[in-house]
Amino acid sequence: MQVHEFQKMMRHIYSQRDSAPGLEGTYDWLVDEVQELGEALKTHNKRALENEFADVIAWLASLANVANVDLERAALSKYHNKCPKCGHSPCQCVF
Ligand SMILES: [Zn+2]
Repeated sequence: MQVHEFQKMMRHIYSQRDSAPGLEGTYDWLVDEVQELGEALKTHNKRALENEFADVIAWLASLANVANVDLERAALSKYHNKCPKCGHSPCQCVF
């Protein structure tokens, strides 16, 4: 399954749920899930980590649906086989 297909699946499952809270409410859910991912990282529990990563990508896809953004197209237009800053792969930016 590709990102575009995942986003489409999320739209099919949750479009009714996501239309009510709108952009701001859906964004707030994503932020909550990212915070839960941060907590799961501290546990070193693989199952908990997988669960939270799944929630984050699900809410990211839902937010993209509400914002009418094609997540796959957006991601690949910026990160297509090279770092968007230095233009190299692997990245050669100095952090
Ligand atoms: Zn770079």
